[in-house]
Amino acid sequence: MGAAILGNMSGNGKFTVGWLYPDLMNIYGDRGNILTLLKRAEWHGLDAQLKELGRGAAQGLRDVDVFFFGGGQDREQALIYDDLRQHKQESLQKAIDDGAQILAVCGGYQLLGHYYQTANGERYEGIGMLDVRTEAGKKRFIGDVIVQTRLERIVPDTLVGFENHSGRTFLGPDAKPLGRVLRGKGNNGADKTEGAVQGTIIGTYMHGSLLPKNPHVADYLIGKALTRRGGGALSHLDDSAELAAHGWILQRAQRR
Ligand code: GLN
Repeated sequence: MGAAILGNMSGNGKFTVGWLYPDLMNIYGDRGNILTLLKRAEWHGLDAQLKELGRGAAQGLRDVDVFFFGGGQDREQALIYDDLRQHKQESLQKAIDDGAQILAVCGGYQLLGHYYQTANGERYEGIGMLDVRTEAGKKRFIGDVIVQTRLERIVPDTLVGFENHSGRTFLGPDAKPLGRVLRGKGNNGADKTEGAVQGTIIGTYMHGSLLPKNPHVADYLIGKALTRRGGGALSHLDDSAELAAHGWILQRAQRR
């Protein structure tokens, strides 16, 4: 519950979040990421707006500063992957080329890659905006995740979240890991990487939801999105409550 100190913003002061498939790709508290982005943007003195982008043709993606693409079970992914290719891919690519950010979690992260293959061999083609590929394993990865990140200049350099996925994701040369796994399975339970970063896109397996306990990532996304609109540095918010929750998860992991 940060105290707002208005920053020296320029541009129109608007901040728009685009929520992809809110009705189908939204599990394990993913909605908390939307609430966090909108509320923090307000605390930073911005006029925060939400654009819901369900199935079908989508308008006005160029106005969006940060897209959020949540997780979903195989059934939900099967219902949207065609729509993503037919109705969203082209305008999403234009918005990204223009500097908009994407935060994608689990099932959304997988479909921004080349493909997601389910445990029974069905393949859902992705849109290849992230150089990653995912194939489901037999055993689900479920539990707390703690990651050490090198996402530029964010402090603290730890991220905390919760994972629940069958997919094993492998990064190609164009994607860099979001971080190194300190606790949990991450991308594939083998190479100690978690998530992927490529251009203005961040993919991760961390539900929870991610942003309430990692306010530094929320401000990273808001700050980046505003820089492209000529906005200055973000105001400093009092995140003692958020970071206390973050610290508590770190301590609990050490006790286990
Ligand atoms: N269905 C995908 C998997 O099992 C994604 C799950 C999720 O979004 N939590 O890996």
